[in-house]
Amino acid sequence: MYLETNHVLDVQLVQSNEVKNSNAMELEGLKLGLRNLATNHMKVTDLTTDRHVQVRKFMREEMENICHWFDSPWKNKLLTLWKKKGCEAVGNWAQSIANHLYYCAASSEGNGDLVVAKWLSIGNHVVNRHDGHGDLFPRCLHGPIDRNKKWIKAGSKAHKELLLITERKRFVADIRMLSPTEQTSALEAQHKVVCQFAPKFLSFSYAAMKQRLHLAALHSVANANHKQAETRQGEKRYRLSYPKYKAGHHVVKAVKENCTYGYVDELMAELIRMKEEYKSDANARAASGNILFSPPPLSSSANRILKSEAVQNHRSRFN
Ligand SMILES: [Zn+2]
Repeated sequence: MYLETNHVLDVQLVQSNEVKNSNAMELEGLKLGLRNLATNHMKVTDLTTDRHVQVRKFMREEMENICHWFDSPWKNKLLTLWKKKGCEAVGNWAQSIANHLYYCAASSEGNGDLVVAKWLSIGNHVVNRHDGHGDLFPRCLHGPIDRNKKWIKAGSKAHKELLLITERKRFVADIRMLSPTEQTSALEAQHKVVCQFAPKFLSFSYAAMKQRLHLAALHSVANANHKQAETRQGEKRYRLSYPKYKAGHHVVKAVKENCTYGYVDELMAELIRMKEEYKSDANARAASGNILFSPPPLSSSANRILKSEAVQNHRSRFN
């Protein structure tokens, strides 16, 4: 995804039997994607990925000319901490802490030490202490704070458990490489679109999955940056939601305009054009070359057994 426009640039599908083991799928997908971008004369200067070990190694050793950044999927950890007994107070803070993480990365111009200093100040801030954070980032930069803010009690169980997460060594080390571009919302939205086109509770053949991924990408590109809906009077529309982790408090969300499905008409027109050009399925298939490639299905590597024998074993086991 090109994060400045939220456009999906490329989609890759890797099935676990195409690579050595399922752990190698991410890296293979990334390599294919980068190769495809290069073939299409796109120069990548910065790349944000998750913190996958093989991807880190590959980027460090073979892609030195691309700045590698991490995205920040840690919100989930914070969002589950409030469920722990004695940690309910964290629920009100999860979103602000996640926002703080983006702020640290976005406001530090790639200075890793400063990102970390800003990040660690959160441990003080949540207990209503706004200075004395350290040399690099001595005091919070926010203005006056809402008086009704629900502070966490310093030294309480919630505070201690929160610090265990925010100050963890690996975590702090990775924060240095946190992407300065706020990206998760666009990516999260993209994952939702993929789930809409390829629901997880259904299974699809490789070819069908690939087509659905491409449809999801087309849908996202057509709807990237669609605007916030407005009332007839021209005012921006919002809605309220009451998520569980907010413990009875609300969140304000922007209401977006309805999605466009104009890409479906374009696809139909292209289909008719190709039908006229190739005359038959066989011709179209021959002309499509590698596009229709599918690896053998995963079940092809299963140990085959005679059905009669399997049924016999099943019966003797359950009778
Ligand atoms: Zn503060």
